Amino acid sequence: MAILILFARISFAQDVQEISAGPKILVLNYHQVQDVFTSLSMPPKLFDEQMNYLKTHGYSSITPEELYKGLTGEIELPLKPVLITFDDGYADNYTNAFPILQSYGMRATIFIIPAFVGKKNYLTWDQLREMELGGVTIESHTLNHRKLEELPDEEIRSELLNSKLVLEENLGHAVEFLAYPTGTYNLHIAGIAKDVGYKGAFTIKYGNVDLGSNLFALARVPIFQTGNTMKDFYERIEYRQSFEEFGWVKR
Ligand SMILES: [Zn+2]
Repeated sequence: MAILILFARISFAQDVQEISAGPKILVLNYHQVQDVFTSLSMPPKLFDEQMNYLKTHGYSSITPEELYKGLTGEIELPLKPVLITFDDGYADNYTNAFPILQSYGMRATIFIIPAFVGKKNYLTWDQLREMELGGVTIESHTLNHRKLEELPDEEIRSELLNSKLVLEENLGHAVEFLAYPTGTYNLHIAGIAKDVGYKGAFTIKYGNVDLGSNLFALARVPIFQTGNTMKDFYERIEYRQSFEEFGWVKR
C-alpha cells in the first residue's frame, strides 16, 4: 500500500513538472546563524550540515544576478541552482555563516538594512566588503526595515531608493535586488521598487522560483530551527516543490 501511494505521488510530481514553467529554482532564506533556540536562528553545526548536504547533492550556488539572467533567458542556469539568502545582516553571518560557506565554496546573498550597519549584533561595512570578496553578494532590505504597507508613498520610495544608494556608495557596485522587510509587499510597493531601479524583489512567500515567477514577488523557502531541524530541512528543499505549492500537502 505504501508503495502504491509513493508511486502515485511520483506520478503526480512528474505531471506537475511538465505543466510548470521550467525547472524549479531553490531560494533559501535564513536570518541568524548561532546557538540560540529561536526559529530564526540556525545553530552553526546544523548550518554546516545543510551546506554539506547541498554540496554533496549537486546543488550549485548562484547570485541574484544569475537568477535574474536565468529567468530572463540570458544565461542557462546550472542543473540544481540554489540561491542562499540571509535577511537583516546579523553579525553572526560573518562570524559563523561566512567561514562555513567558504569551506564549501558556496556563494550567498545578504539583504542589508543600511541604518543598522555597524550597530550592536549587526554587520559592519568592513565585514560586508570583506565578505563580498569571498563570494557573498550584498543587496537591499530597505533603509530602516519599516512596514512598507503602512507608509505614505514618498516614504516607501525613500526606504527603497535610499537603501540602494547608501549600499551602492559604500560597496562600490550596483544594488539591484531587494527583499521586502517582514516579507510583506503588494503590487503598489512592487511598482515603486521597479521604478527606483530594482530588477527583482524577494518575499517570504513559501515556494520555488521558476520561469513563471513574478520578478518582484520571488518566493523563497524559509529554513527554520525546529524540534527536528534537519528532517524539516530535507523535506522543505526536496519535497515541497511538487506537492505543497498545489495544496496537496500541508505542513
Ligand atoms: Zn528582515
